[in-house]
Amino acid sequence: MNLANYVSGEWKSGGGAGEALVDPVSGEELARVSSQGIDVKQALEFARAEGGPALCALSFRGRVELLAKIGETLAANRDEYFRISLLNQGANQADASFDVDGAIYTMKYYAKIGQALAEGKMLKEGAQVSLSKTGVFVGQHFLVPAKGAAVFINAFNFPAWGFCEKAAPALLSGVPIVIKPASPTAWLAHKMGEDIVKANILPRGAISILCGSARDLLEHTGESDVVSFTGSAETAMRIRSHTNVLRRSVRVNVEADSINSVILGPDVSPGTDLFELLVKEVVREMTLKAGQKCTAIRRVFVPRQNLKALGDAIATRLSSMKTGNPRNAEVKVGPVVNKAQQAACLEGLRRLKRECTVVFGGDENFQPLDADPVKSAFVQPTLLACENGVDASFVHDVEVFGPAATLIAYDSTEEMIALVRRGLGSLVASIFANDPAFLKTVVLGIGDLHGRLMVVDSSVGTQYTGHGNVVPSCLHGGPGRAGGGEELAGLRALLLYHRRFVVQGPPSVTGALAERSADAGSLYS
Ligand code: NAP
Repeated sequence: MNLANYVSGEWKSGGGAGEALVDPVSGEELARVSSQGIDVKQALEFARAEGGPALCALSFRGRVELLAKIGETLAANRDEYFRISLLNQGANQADASFDVDGAIYTMKYYAKIGQALAEGKMLKEGAQVSLSKTGVFVGQHFLVPAKGAAVFINAFNFPAWGFCEKAAPALLSGVPIVIKPASPTAWLAHKMGEDIVKANILPRGAISILCGSARDLLEHTGESDVVSFTGSAETAMRIRSHTNVLRRSVRVNVEADSINSVILGPDVSPGTDLFELLVKEVVREMTLKAGQKCTAIRRVFVPRQNLKALGDAIATRLSSMKTGNPRNAEVKVGPVVNKAQQAACLEGLRRLKRECTVVFGGDENFQPLDADPVKSAFVQPTLLACENGVDASFVHDVEVFGPAATLIAYDSTEEMIALVRRGLGSLVASIFANDPAFLKTVVLGIGDLHGRLMVVDSSVGTQYTGHGNVVPSCLHGGPGRAGGGEELAGLRALLLYHRRFVVQGPPSVTGALAERSADAGSLYS
């Protein structure tokens, strides 16, 4: 099966052998993708010329209806997305739900909150400011949708959610979308895009799907386009430093990799409810989607006196979870996406082992349940421990994108804060503690280097959303190594797809424009 590209309003197959998508359990080929011979320049021009104006002819209300229809269409095809997730990612029900249901929920969420923007087509920001003595000359800020295309270059681990969390705010803004899913798992994003196209929901040019290599895509982006990238820091650097992107100041949003942390407070003793909650959370982060989540916990900071107790508690839980073929009902942990990712994980673990001891797992030759270890791509869940985080370097730097985490002992709050900061900017850190003074010190000590801090004390109990759970109402992104991007946060996400300008002139002109605009204040409410 060849996954055709959808560009300039038509399905077109790429040339050449393309790249194979495989079943990570059997190693069998499932499909091929290729963008060879596809006129990417024309595809972008078509999106800008046809898709953008058609979307912008609608009000926010009109576009909200499109999102609602997309949400319904995706929900109706959910079973097929789960089937593809199982085949192409080895995803069990929980793994697939995180991606697929997360995607559908996000699309429906934007269809709901977008209603606050009513009938306007642009946004008026703030009040009119007087610029003359008699008030005949004023300034008014506006936000207008970019007249270019929103180009999404996505990572392999969230083919469904990565698509929808970007598509919903872009379409709501009135900007046509060009999706370039990661090749190893492009099938799911392709199928969702195909379902949306078949349902005839969007105007011509409002959606394009490019499968396979991005090739010369960036070469043809321009000042009105937005490139929203999710993936590794290394690829992010190549995208940011692309000559055309630099020359034309193409707006780029980056969500990159991240060495996320969880912190156990010194006041939390082994065996308490809060201690057990952290144990469960670490195990969930290590095993859900086989640890292939950008937000997954990689470093677990623990007071030195509780290092052993925490290691034992996590290892006990991990030992009860079977890793192998997700078609076997006993299995709780699936494979990583392919042999290349498996090799990258094993190499990363080898580096970490140079400065850590193995608490659980770490066997490169382990036997997955119901799967051939030679053909499949499994990594045994592995918990490591680092006694000397100060002199260690790999634990703060190497992202093993699989079922792995490292315990790091700390002796003082100040030392722990300094060590967390050595992640150089992360998507999320969680703190499990009851002591308000400790919580305040840690939040203020690491907040500037994180996009999200999740604080859990005994009053929260089990009612938290989850360390790795990105909710559309809250910010997703992080500074520094995490890419410096910002996504979601409710309607604030629309800012990426809008341009701000100020009109200075007579109030009759600014007032008339303001009357046709929705209030940008609703982005922040
Ligand atoms: P990747 O190798 O960086 O690839 C990401 C995307 O970039 C793919 O679509 C890839 O296409 C494309 N790409 C590669 N080289 C390119 C180039 N020169 N120009 C334009 N596009 C290019 O990342 P991945 O392996 O798919 O994903 C895993 C990484 O993503 C992990 O490090 C993870 O932490 C990170 N991630 C971050 C977030 C977040 O929100 N911060 C979310 C998910 C994942 P091909 O697949 O065709 O090569």
